[in-house]
Amino acid sequence: MTIGIVGAGQLGRMLALAGYPLGFDFLFLDRSAATPAGQLAPILCGDMASPKLLARLARRSAVVTFDWENASVAGLKPIARLTRVFPPIEALAAAQDRLREKRLFEALGIPTTRFAAVASRKQLLAAIAQVGLPGVLKTRHGGYDGKGQFVIRGPRDIDRAWDALGALPCLYENLVPFDYEVSAIGVRGSDGATAFYPLNRNLHRGGILRLTRAPFGSTPLTRRANAALRRILDHFGYVGVLTIEFFVHRGRLIANEIAPRVHNSGHWTIEGAVTSQFENHIRAITGLPLGSTQARGHSAMINLIGTLPPRADLLARPGVHLHDYRKDPRPDRKLGHITLIADSAARRDSGARALLRRIDRETWVSFR
Ligand code: AMP
Repeated sequence: MTIGIVGAGQLGRMLALAGYPLGFDFLFLDRSAATPAGQLAPILCGDMASPKLLARLARRSAVVTFDWENASVAGLKPIARLTRVFPPIEALAAAQDRLREKRLFEALGIPTTRFAAVASRKQLLAAIAQVGLPGVLKTRHGGYDGKGQFVIRGPRDIDRAWDALGALPCLYENLVPFDYEVSAIGVRGSDGATAFYPLNRNLHRGGILRLTRAPFGSTPLTRRANAALRRILDHFGYVGVLTIEFFVHRGRLIANEIAPRVHNSGHWTIEGAVTSQFENHIRAITGLPLGSTQARGHSAMINLIGTLPPRADLLARPGVHLHDYRKDPRPDRKLGHITLIADSAARRDSGARALLRRIDRETWVSFR
């Protein structure tokens, strides 16, 4: 049975690496074969929104999924007549529009930021009056890893923000003085069964995830995060893995965004959970029973960004696993990650600190 995946990045690569042992084949669609998943599975090369290529992918696949949040909604809709497409395209559409996403949180009673839609300079001024300062102007579509965002702290920033982003439909929201960030990852099978991973505590710098530690958080915090996940999963009749990113402020969870796919903050589950997020996504979309999401030990995941440190340096530490996505180095590009597993949270944290000190001084400074 072949699983078709739109997007052949590192998430697709890790999905295939999890799915091959279960006996599945993979076929990818991406612009280039020189992609992390293109190096290990057959690939259809070309425009990822091309109706012809998407139809070819659908005809050759028992189920189609995506590893890319900007997969074309308009392109995927017609292929849903040729094969199954999971997660639901409606969830993908919601995740691609920050305004729809915020309205979804509101409609489902999930606390989120104060926000207003912005389509003109006049509306930006009205949004600032309504939501207050400081705030963030974000493009509604196409933003990721902190791109397409501008923080507005005072009146002097307004024109600069508008010049940077105003050509596109935007959303303005309050800047949350969060204490820290967490993400919750859950999975729903086609029979409606659900499973939830332990919470992840995430550290970002420059809008890019640097460090995830899991399991994290008290039982009540985890319960609230999972209740929010469940509402979204059930709302869409979802099949596959879904992530919600939250700010935590004074113990309150404030939903930032959803990702209708496996997530960077869940990479630790490859070695650190009984069943990885990748395997559970494959299980869900192929109608197999879900696997246990229980943690094995205490994990820290560190993204390797811009350059890959020498392998031997990373692997010299016991409990470290390396994932090299085989991408060309470029500033701010995620080239791989390492996961460190320890038998206590304290040992995990000291190990992560020592690794960060060598490979990412700035994150080390924030983590100390
Ligand atoms: P996003 O692309 O929305 O996930 O934003 C990337 C990162 O920017 C988040 O993980 C936060 O660290 C920061 N950020 C985004 N929106 C806000 C906000 N409203 N308040 C505070 N920090 C934010």
